This record gives sequence, structure tokens and C-alpha cells, in this order.
Amino acid sequence: MTATAPSSPSTGSGQARIWDLASSVPDPSTGSGQARIWDLASSVPDPEMPMLTLADLGVLRGVREHDGQVVVTITPTYSGCPALATMRDDLVHRLRDAGYAARVEVALSPAWSSDWITERGRRALRDHGLSAPGPAPRAPAGGPVALDLGPTRRRLSCPRCEAADVALVSEFGPTACTAIYRCRSCLEPFEHVKEI
Ligand SMILES: [Zn+2]
Repeated sequence: MTATAPSSPSTGSGQARIWDLASSVPDPSTGSGQARIWDLASSVPDPEMPMLTLADLGVLRGVREHDGQVVVTITPTYSGCPALATMRDDLVHRLRDAGYAARVEVALSPAWSSDWITERGRRALRDHGLSAPGPAPRAPAGGPVALDLGPTRRRLSCPRCEAADVALVSEFGPTACTAIYRCRSCLEPFEHVKEI
């Protein structure tokens, strides 16, 4: 009994989710089963960028029942992400508050990509003054991604005034996932969510 996120998150809108409404996971309130569990889990905000839910971020991969427990599968944005423990606790607490015994499993493969951030998530980033990532670097035919030790060049525009004249201030922002830029037109600094 499994509900999963879209198998191709980079192209999916979330509409391709598979529900199994006949699940035997007990629902203490409405009896609507697995869709309600998905809705509960997918409403948990990302600890570092709380304008995004874990579903917006593409981190939430699936919910299923096992031994009378809800098992939530997440894929961290990167393997050393310090927010992982908080994500796990927040999911367990959200489901526990709704009456479900829950645990969280971490799936490292396939690796998360910034392409998995949904359109809704990209809009939320822009609405909060952050610049959304462009297309992630692609490995040629499944091979390794080439490492470039030179400065990362990105074609960005300012999320506030949309000017393209922006300058990198720092490759690292308040979180490792973001870089800091400054707009030369409106002069405001802004965070850019990196492509990975
Ligand atoms: Zn600007």
C-alpha cells in the first residue's frame, strides 16, 4: 500500500500521485486514509526555507503503511543536510498529532535534485524574495557530473525588480543551499537557491 510522489518530479505537477484509498491505515478523523496522510505529511514546512513545504521542495517521496505504522520516505536535499533531523521530527510530530504512529525512512537514491522543486515551490521562493534555481547540471548518459572548480556562473535576474544586472556576493548564504547576490539595479541583496 503505497502513495508516491511523481516518478519524474522535474516534469511532474504532483497530479500523477498514486493513491491507494483502500489502505488499512486507520484514520482517526475522517476515514479518508492514505490521501489524508499524504496531505498531512506534505504540509510540513522545510525547516530552513519555511515558505516551502517538504512536498514543494520535492523531499517528500512517499507514504505507506507497515506493521500498523505510517512510514514516510524522504530524500534529503544533500546527504549532509543539517535540516534532516528536524524534517524527520516535524513529520513524526505532525502525524502523531493527527493520531498516527509514524516513522521516517531516508532514501538516498535517486539523489535529490533542485529540479524536483515544484512550480508552486518556485513561485513561493520568488514571492518571498528568493531566486529559484535554474536547470540542474546533468550527468552525460548517466555518467558522473563534471566538477568545475572555477566560480559558478549563473544567469539570474533579481527576484524583486527582475533586472539581469546582478553580482555574486557569496557562494554561501544563511544555508549551504543558497548563494547571496546583489542587484545592481535596485541595490537589494537576495538569496539564490543553488542548482544541484
Ligand atoms: Zn533588483
